[in-house]
Amino acid sequence: MNKVILVVLDGLNAKTAHTYMGFLEHLIENNQCAAYRMNAELPAQSRPLYEVIQTGVPSYLNGIVSNGTVRRSKETSVFQLAKAAGLKTGAASYHWVSELYNKAPFNPMTDRIQLDTDQAIENGLFYYEDHYPDSHLIADGAYLINEKQTDYILIHSMNIDDIGHKFGSQSKEYVQAAVRMDALLANYLMDWLKKGYQVVVTADHGMNEYCTHNGVTEEERQVPLYIFSDKVTVGDCRETLVPQLQLAPLLCYLLAIEKSAAMQDLTFI
Ligand SMILES: [Zn+2]
Repeated sequence: MNKVILVVLDGLNAKTAHTYMGFLEHLIENNQCAAYRMNAELPAQSRPLYEVIQTGVPSYLNGIVSNGTVRRSKETSVFQLAKAAGLKTGAASYHWVSELYNKAPFNPMTDRIQLDTDQAIENGLFYYEDHYPDSHLIADGAYLINEKQTDYILIHSMNIDDIGHKFGSQSKEYVQAAVRMDALLANYLMDWLKKGYQVVVTADHGMNEYCTHNGVTEEERQVPLYIFSDKVTVGDCRETLVPQLQLAPLLCYLLAIEKSAAMQDLTFI
């Protein structure tokens, strides 16, 4: 099966994931996935990196240079490529993803639920409050997987980032948010794997002790990457720091579709 669930945990740095997310560590210890560290592109900000993740094109070329760039993407995204290949696309995500691939600006009164559309994201459930509970978000994603039979879906949470902005990466609150997500993933992940889905878990960027992210420190830039798929060799490869521009071609490889000309060749798998 070539179906992919991409889980992006907004604002989760690699150090916190690898220290405190015990369920994911359990799966690494038992050789159930391939684990890497990923080096986020710059600026280490959400909207620019949503675009990097989905298109494999860096900010200076794709033009999404800050969180304030509110417009549709001009690049070729994995959503578009998947749809063009006849695959069903979906997203349970923050509304900025709708702005990049479906419509901008986002109107909360009309754009929250976008089902069976002709847009790049055919089925979308988009939230617009940073404290929208991760538990509800992941249930939104599970709904789209089960009811819309998505072949490629983004499930994108915001609570870890939201709490990191309030308390910083060294706080107990930030760790607790990561631990809550680890338990949520435990509830869903095994079911998805049993059904034959490939699952990729990563983050857009990390978080620092000053309650922000943008720069080049390890805490801001290094994020986890877990790949559950028969198409990759399992093992703990966290010594390897993979460029984030490799994520879009990885997704195309897992979906068994052609990558775009702008994407790098996949080299780390
Ligand atoms: Zn943030």
